[in-house]
Amino acid sequence: MRRHRIALQGSRLIAGRSLADPVPDSAPWSGKCDVVIIGGGIVGTCVALYLAERGVDVVLLEKGVIAGEASGRAVGFVDSVMMAREKQAAIRCSKTLWADLDRRCGGAPGYRQSGLVFALHRESDLQAAAGWINRMGPETDARLLTPLETERILPGTDAAQYRGALHVPSDGHAEPRRAAPAIAREAIRLGARVFQQCAARRIVTQDRRVRGVETERGLIRCDQVVVTAGVWTSLILRILGVDVPQLYGFATASEVASAPLSAQIGGSAGGVAFRPTSDGTHVVGPHLSLAPVTPAGLRNALRFRHVLRRLGHVVDLAPSLSHYGFMRRAEHWTGTGPSPFEGCRILEPERRRYSEFAALNGLAKTFRGGEEARLVRSWGGALATTPDNMPIIGPVPGYPQIQLACGMYYGFTFGPVAAALIASGLLQDVPPTDPTPFALERLLDGRPIRYMP
Ligand SMILES: Cc1cc2nc3c(=O)[nH]c(=O)nc-3n(C[C@H](O)[C@H](O)[C@H](O)COP(=O)(O)OP(=O)(O)OC[C@H]3O[C@@H](n4cnc5c(N)ncnc54)[C@H](O)[C@@H]3O)c2cc1C
Repeated sequence: MRRHRIALQGSRLIAGRSLADPVPDSAPWSGKCDVVIIGGGIVGTCVALYLAERGVDVVLLEKGVIAGEASGRAVGFVDSVMMAREKQAAIRCSKTLWADLDRRCGGAPGYRQSGLVFALHRESDLQAAAGWINRMGPETDARLLTPLETERILPGTDAAQYRGALHVPSDGHAEPRRAAPAIAREAIRLGARVFQQCAARRIVTQDRRVRGVETERGLIRCDQVVVTAGVWTSLILRILGVDVPQLYGFATASEVASAPLSAQIGGSAGGVAFRPTSDGTHVVGPHLSLAPVTPAGLRNALRFRHVLRRLGHVVDLAPSLSHYGFMRRAEHWTGTGPSPFEGCRILEPERRRYSEFAALNGLAKTFRGGEEARLVRSWGGALATTPDNMPIIGPVPGYPQIQLACGMYYGFTFGPVAAALIASGLLQDVPPTDPTPFALERLLDGRPIRYMP
């Protein structure tokens, strides 16, 4: 197995710019509501929608702009491929919710359940895929394709390159730049208030009961808080003494024009993930990310040993003094005065040129005419995982009025179901799927950690 390498470029933070559609701010500012949501990515916007439609007085706070971070930078797969059985029911539920969100937002999220196809180049890949389909049984509609079927579904490739492919017809993709903004606009239409450029500095509690959220514009009094702040969630809860173990990584994706790729189906071949966009281009990304060295990363290295070992072939380690220094100062913030959150409105790692090269090279080697693909733009983004690679969704132990959802390596896939779980907890509804595997307690109570693909 390939060992982690050291990445020399790609982990510096640059002045972040959003790729996402703009969302108008709500007015006027108000210092009181039922529920404050911290973080306007795909999860936070969906929670806002699910609560607003039930008449809850909800405020969504975003330190930058809606979908400025991971949710506006994803490749866009809604994906179940090779994932653990424990994730499949939640992903199925998310696909249903994605279809409903797309309908409600007039098609703006661009959700297409058009399948994903993963080419299998080696005999060992084929065996692993066949084993996975067997283990999943009725949990998946995945099937194996022959090399000729693969060539037909991925035009421009050559059957001789493959042992076959894994095809999941019920998987698909959506448009990260448009999805969360469209959902936020729908939430606003239903009564949610959205305040951007407004960081939540800390959750104010007394005797473990929530009193409100202190923001850079002043205090908002509320009864419940939902933290959907992506990679920042651990820092927000650290101030309350709550340990939320997340390891984050940086990835680079690119938009390319004139690539000889399918205009319908997304997938992966030659080490490159790809999907069509609604503008006629394609988003591509190599299966590569890097883990910046941070104080929390060093402290938690042992806890994350399973993840680091299992993802070793796709994750490189990246020392960056500027990034390390920023996170160190952030961890030492005492909770008074301007916070680290407003010090980084949009977290954007510099794009990694090696990843751009790997994606274009993969296209050129795998697809006839792939060398014609022209780079339109590239961007970096951050994504997080947990010690067992399962999302964290649900109440915070010891703080029953605080819910959180984070640690989602595939958070664009999980976003809607994570939000529906949080909303059902707050509204005391029947949960849309079993929440137990996602509870934060599992990572804190000393039980053995098992890696979940
Ligand atoms: C390059 C790349 C490709 C990816 N591809 C896929 C894919 O194909 N499929 C898939 O399923 N997943 C993919 N992911 C992962 C996915 O994008 C994330 O898991 C998901 O978007 C996380 O959503 P979120 O709402 O939890 O967090 P985010 O989208 O990160 O949103 C959190 C928000 O909280 C805000 N915030 C933080 N702190 C505060 C504060 N104190 N006050 C106010 N606001 C705050 C941030 O500014 C941010 O906007 C990819 C990620 C990257 C980077």
